Amino acid sequence: MPLNAANVYFSGWGRYGCILCEAYRPEHHFELSALLTSPPKSFIPRGLGRSYGDAAMNKDGAVLDLSRMNRMRSFEAETGVLECEGGVSLAEILDVFVPRGFFLPVTPGTKFVTVAGAIANDVHGKNHHCDGTFTQFVDAIGLWTPARGIITCSRHENSDIFWATAGGVGLTGVLLWARLRLLPVESAYMRVDYQRCSHLDEALAAMEASDKNYRYSVAWVDCLARGGSLGRSILMRGNHAPVNYLPEKARRSPFRLPRRTKLAVPVDFPGFVLNPYSIKAFNTLFYAKNRNAQDVIVDYDQYFYPLDGILQWNRLYGKKGFVQYQATFPPDGRTGLVRMLERLASSGRASFLAVLKCFGESNPGLLSHPMPGYTLTLDIPNTPGLIEFAASLDRLLLEYGGRLYLAKDALTQPETFSEMYPQLGAFREIKAQLDPDRILTSSLSRRLCLDG
Ligand SMILES: Cc1cc2nc3c(=O)[nH]c(=O)nc-3n(C[C@H](O)[C@H](O)[C@H](O)COP(=O)(O)OP(=O)(O)OC[C@H]3O[C@@H](n4cnc5c(N)ncnc54)[C@H](O)[C@@H]3O)c2cc1C
Repeated sequence: MPLNAANVYFSGWGRYGCILCEAYRPEHHFELSALLTSPPKSFIPRGLGRSYGDAAMNKDGAVLDLSRMNRMRSFEAETGVLECEGGVSLAEILDVFVPRGFFLPVTPGTKFVTVAGAIANDVHGKNHHCDGTFTQFVDAIGLWTPARGIITCSRHENSDIFWATAGGVGLTGVLLWARLRLLPVESAYMRVDYQRCSHLDEALAAMEASDKNYRYSVAWVDCLARGGSLGRSILMRGNHAPVNYLPEKARRSPFRLPRRTKLAVPVDFPGFVLNPYSIKAFNTLFYAKNRNAQDVIVDYDQYFYPLDGILQWNRLYGKKGFVQYQATFPPDGRTGLVRMLERLASSGRASFLAVLKCFGESNPGLLSHPMPGYTLTLDIPNTPGLIEFAASLDRLLLEYGGRLYLAKDALTQPETFSEMYPQLGAFREIKAQLDPDRILTSSLSRRLCLDG
């Protein structure tokens, strides 16, 4: 029996714009096969909708929600190689494999994303400077494409398609399964050093001097601080904790996490709750509360996923939503970083703590975001003048040879994007071969002319 479509309102995680789409949600292989045998005229696959902008939305077309195609197919304990369907979430992998002594090799700041979504945006974590992106731990994928049916892609087989799909925002095909290498760990805990840095230069210098000692590194920046305190931040850097570093109780069951009740934001906050004063007070308190400390043992949920503890935290920004702006500057782009923070602080746009990370080498992914340098992530509420303000940040970023991240973007223009991603032409060629009729399309791909 054909799968019925439902009309569903979709938005990105930033809730900036919401559109009605025809939605399909297959749960069984026969449903997905029937859909792909006679696909809708225009559709985009969707995972758990954690992209902030319009990457998994398709105005006037269909959305294929694949979060129920989430079976684990096989696991080899000797090598840590897991084969699973694209809709398996990182949270499900952690639940099953941490008790067996394996962790994700790369994880974004939320575990509520699917494996396919992580590949389609080629996501990075706090360890990019050491390990690179998620796709670098993917050995092979199964991809349904309109022109060639189901194909296997890896570094050795259809490698051009593999690297177009890593960061290809769902436009090269439907990712059916992936084979990925998990990381063996001794416990579910992290050993973390906290360091207060009173301005941006101190944070950048500390990262440059000693990030190599830590697998994971991130700075939470108070982006409302100005003058001599511009960019003051708390650096949180850590490594997986070996069992012999754990306190006695945790040592007895090193993979068990303490129980925690989750908070939830049940309704949209009224827009006035988040204003420059309330956010400034929050940021100041956060900076004051975190002191220098060494070798603090925290569990992986506390370290990697602090925001997952508050369900639907995106409602804090009210009905109008917000955008997330992630700007990556090359290593000599420090002045650009300073100017961006100054512009935000003086704009009166309230923004919670920003995140600053250091990126290592790029990979061959044609639209993969990371490149060597520094990446700054800002949440900007949707208040009057947002579009002009974001365009001014785009110009600043271009001036310093930087680039934006598609998983976060909702506002940029096609000319800006193509200047930032010189391999867009090569991506378009592969896309044209795999999907000549442009069946796979999204609001994002049309906004940025990703398929030419
Ligand atoms: C709190 C929070 C923290 C975050 N932190 C980070 C971070 O630290 N680093 C980082 O890199 N990102 C980060 N992100 C962004 C997030 O990791 C990515 O947007 C991720 O791609 C979301 O996965 P998803 O399953 O929700 O996919 P969706 O958002 O639903 O879709 C993302 C893309 O994947 C495509 N896609 C989904 N399923 C398939 C499929 N089966 N086949 C083909 N294409 C598919 C979609 O078409 C879309 O283009 C964060 C997001 C949030 C909300």
